[in-house]
Amino acid sequence: MQIQFSGGAGGDVTGSLHIVEAGGRRFLLDCGMIQGDANAERRNLLPFDFDPESMDAVLISHAHIDHIGRLPLLVKRGYRGPIYAQRATADLMPIMLLDAAGIQEGDAERFNRRLRSGQQPMEPLYTRRDVEQCLSLIQACEDQTDIDLGEGVVMHLHEAGHILGACSIELRHGGKTLLFSGDLGPRNTPILRDPAPPTSADLVLLESTYGDRLHRDKAMTISEMGEILDTAARTGGKVIIPAFAVGRTQELLYWMAQYYEEWNLRMFRIFIDSPMAIKVIDVYERNKDLFDEHAREVWQKKPNPFSMPNLTLSESVEDSQAINEVRGPAIIIAGSGMANAGRVLHHLRHHLPNPTTQVCIVGYQGYGTLGRRLVDGAKTVRIHGRDVPVKATVHTLGGLSAHADQKGLTDWYGEIKNRPPVVLVHGEDKAREAMAAKLAELYGADVDLAMPGETRTV
Ligand SMILES: [Zn+2]
Repeated sequence: MQIQFSGGAGGDVTGSLHIVEAGGRRFLLDCGMIQGDANAERRNLLPFDFDPESMDAVLISHAHIDHIGRLPLLVKRGYRGPIYAQRATADLMPIMLLDAAGIQEGDAERFNRRLRSGQQPMEPLYTRRDVEQCLSLIQACEDQTDIDLGEGVVMHLHEAGHILGACSIELRHGGKTLLFSGDLGPRNTPILRDPAPPTSADLVLLESTYGDRLHRDKAMTISEMGEILDTAARTGGKVIIPAFAVGRTQELLYWMAQYYEEWNLRMFRIFIDSPMAIKVIDVYERNKDLFDEHAREVWQKKPNPFSMPNLTLSESVEDSQAINEVRGPAIIIAGSGMANAGRVLHHLRHHLPNPTTQVCIVGYQGYGTLGRRLVDGAKTVRIHGRDVPVKATVHTLGGLSAHADQKGLTDWYGEIKNRPPVVLVHGEDKAREAMAAKLAELYGADVDLAMPGETRTV
């Protein structure tokens, strides 16, 4: 088998895309969107460094946009083969890709409305129609099962514990095994099973997003959350949580059900104000058999996290606006996760000037986003063209990452008993270098860093 690195190599953390040749067939591992500032995102427009029509199949690790976001573009440029994805990933993909297309179309429309003479109109990277065509190629499959890809190539998906449906991809051909980690989650992520790699492989492509970091303790984060809710209950303030629609929102609901008594949650009204998160909750409901044992216990013994008695799922704009009228303590979970768009902006505009408001930041906040400005202690922020004073208390809760930290990543490798060589992908150089050193120190592993255009043979 030959592997060629294309995206998510050379220090890139987004745009995951690798090309594998085996048994005379050509496969893509992921086809992710390059994310970041405008310059980075313009790279999505470049031609692929392969002919889309020459590919036999695409194998998807999980439904995050930096792993699937260029699929509609691939199809727009001629790809017509199957797209294999674990069944929950296949369920999440329409939600994620239609949302991405909506954003692309909106951006183009806004740009074209202000077009100056001589300027070329902007074409969206892809449209919802392109997405529909792409979705028709998806083949939902099961993890922990051999899947025949033809010409003696076999795929086997292993739990990655990162988001629902996320898997590591094992490819076997001619007695050799290639293992692509995909994104790996920390152990004990609520709801999800722990990552479980196979016990042997001949070459491992390993993500290294947090290869140079150790996460804060989750128990501490949970007790901090308890204190924040306590304060909010006493002062009657609102708790606003910007959260990603996939994973983090459902995780928060799970914690709330688990600590319903301890956190005195009957005092609060709880709102999920995100149509996308509500669709994702449906996907979770449909794929309950993928949950871990702890989740089954919570679902049996505690209020159902997705239908707690005081939980409101706000779908329409009217539902969302009605939250403004709610008196007394309330928890509002809304997108976007970095507070740079979406309904959470309305709630922040409304409640940031109030000193009883508690804002909880529960995820990574990219540079230049409103979430990051709040974390950095801004006294005034601009929302919808207005200056809004920040009188609320802003809390940063660090223990809820969907990515394994350095220990999680090295522990995962440690389970692959024959200590195969490792190529590090999906991490900044600093993180990859720290990971390489740690893997060599702990396991004597032969590690190197992938660069775009390079190949490896196994
Ligand atoms: Zn991911």
